[in-house]
Amino acid sequence: MRSIEMRRWLLLFALVPVVAVLPLPDYWIFQLNYIGLYALTSMGLVLLTGVSGLTSFGQAAFVGIGAYTTAWLTLNLGWSPWLTLWVGLGLTFISALVVGMITLRMSGHYLPLATIAWGLSLYYLMGNLDALGKYDGLLGLQSLSIGSFDIGQGRPFFVLTWLILLGAALCMSQLLDSRAGRAIRSLKNGTQMAEAMGINTFRYKVTAFVMAALLASVAGWLLAHFQRTVNPSAFGLKMGIEYLFMAVVGGVGHIWGAIVGAGLIKLMDDYLQILLPKLIGTSGSYEVIVFGVVLVLVLKYMPDGLWSLVARYMPRRDRDVDWADADHLPEIHKPQSGELLLDVQDVRKQFGGLVAVNDIRFQIKAGEIVGLIGPNGAGKSTTFNLITGVLPLTSGAVKFRGDTISGLPSREILRKGMARTFQHVKMIPDMTVLENVAMGGYSRGHTGVLSGMLGTNRNEEQRLFKLAQQQLERIGIGHTMHEQAGNLAMGQQRLMEIARALCADPALLLLDEPAAGLRHKEKQGLADVLRQLQSEGVSILLVEHDMDLVMQVCDKLVVMEFGTLLLEGTPKEIQESPVVRAAYLGTEH
Ligand code: ADP
Ligand code: MG
Repeated sequence: MRSIEMRRWLLLFALVPVVAVLPLPDYWIFQLNYIGLYALTSMGLVLLTGVSGLTSFGQAAFVGIGAYTTAWLTLNLGWSPWLTLWVGLGLTFISALVVGMITLRMSGHYLPLATIAWGLSLYYLMGNLDALGKYDGLLGLQSLSIGSFDIGQGRPFFVLTWLILLGAALCMSQLLDSRAGRAIRSLKNGTQMAEAMGINTFRYKVTAFVMAALLASVAGWLLAHFQRTVNPSAFGLKMGIEYLFMAVVGGVGHIWGAIVGAGLIKLMDDYLQILLPKLIGTSGSYEVIVFGVVLVLVLKYMPDGLWSLVARYMPRRDRDVDWADADHLPEIHKPQSGELLLDVQDVRKQFGGLVAVNDIRFQIKAGEIVGLIGPNGAGKSTTFNLITGVLPLTSGAVKFRGDTISGLPSREILRKGMARTFQHVKMIPDMTVLENVAMGGYSRGHTGVLSGMLGTNRNEEQRLFKLAQQQLERIGIGHTMHEQAGNLAMGQQRLMEIARALCADPALLLLDEPAAGLRHKEKQGLADVLRQLQSEGVSILLVEHDMDLVMQVCDKLVVMEFGTLLLEGTPKEIQESPVVRAAYLGTEH
């Protein structure tokens, strides 16, 4: 981590004991303790829901596991809370892993529904077990202490909780700024792009889920000893919804949003519980209605949450280029020019009765640029997706450098040396161009979540950024590296995708309509880039509409029409063929 940033963090950590000795009213400290506890849980939700796009209403249940574990073990077996913390984390880890493995494969609204079911079932379990005191819960827990020094209440507890909270925030922010973190940030934008970069998206979903649960479990452990009692109502669905509120209202994508949200909800909760019954005249949990209204308003007018108001005034600094002296990543073995690279053998794809790709066969030799052309709906993109493992084949086979790759997931195919771009640009718009491109080098890195959190990945990060910068410069858009990817013009976004694919150091590059949306001059630039790549030993399969470009750069063309292979030959042969003219002009021949 850069030294300026490290200093900022140290300052924040130092602020905690300072606040504790300030002459603040005890009531404020009491509130801050709760806010810290709640923020710990909602910070997990920021990671899970805000960053990864996975909604969970069941987070309170994990708080419950942490709380009940320590309550039962300290009360019944007399264990030290410092030990039971780890037991609680272990139990949470196992249950989150099991729940995550089952539910995270579900798509769309099934996941939130499943977390509701999970939250409810744990609530009723806690409420019905005799050993856990049923709905009365367990009473008389000890306060946390170090030796004979009580740190379980008031100011000492404030220091403990907020140091843990800041520690979690530091780990989280380092993680999000790492190879594994970029993989997690990509989850929200669907899995196709991430998988094409070699990322096992399911594994990262489970990881985010487990991490969020572990944070909740720590909060539960703290809460149990702070309140010195546990009962199911603190861990039910209502709290699950409130935690989600905190994350969403505070700012779904920002770790600091968790604290803003927790503070707001906690204070609102208190004031409304006093105020509303007076206004309405009867008592009840009316605050939930206000929360609902606030949530709708925030989602409508401030979809990035309240923290985005603050973030707007935070200075945005370009990332320092501290990787100039980084080592190169190891070279990947390249095929000899002329080696048979891609062998598409009678590949077929049916969508119900429609034969989208009808026994297509063609080959690409190392060093060639091959164009796949044909009118709209001819089956080009489908063929592309069959080769890259996005769609399963109906029959036939695809071989790459002698190995059968059909049937492999796209992340495995990437690792064999085949990288791609998308017809519709797929990127993380709120990441910089450099970070987006660095994702293309994912498969060449090794550091995981833990070294990301602890910041021990610096060396590899520098290598990845150096690689990304080099690829951007290679295709002539190095000057865009610090910009937000979403702000680039269409043409530059397409070039960015090519740079990203090049980070994988592919033997074969597959481009799906790279010239779409480019201006004439940009197209010329693209043609130069493709020829330059070819001279550097990259082979290319180009699906393209733009005939000029295709005729200019391709060594060989494969023409498709209605799913079948119409003709294969040099650009000259294709240009002169009456059959192809007929297909393009749409007339019978
Ligand atoms: P191209 O890229 O050459 O324009 P496509 O490969 O996208 O053509 O489509 C080929 C044919 O397959 C079209 O008729 C299209 O409607 C059909 N098709 C493509 N994808 C699907 C799908 N997922 N389900 C059903 N039909 C599809
Ligand atoms: Mg297409």
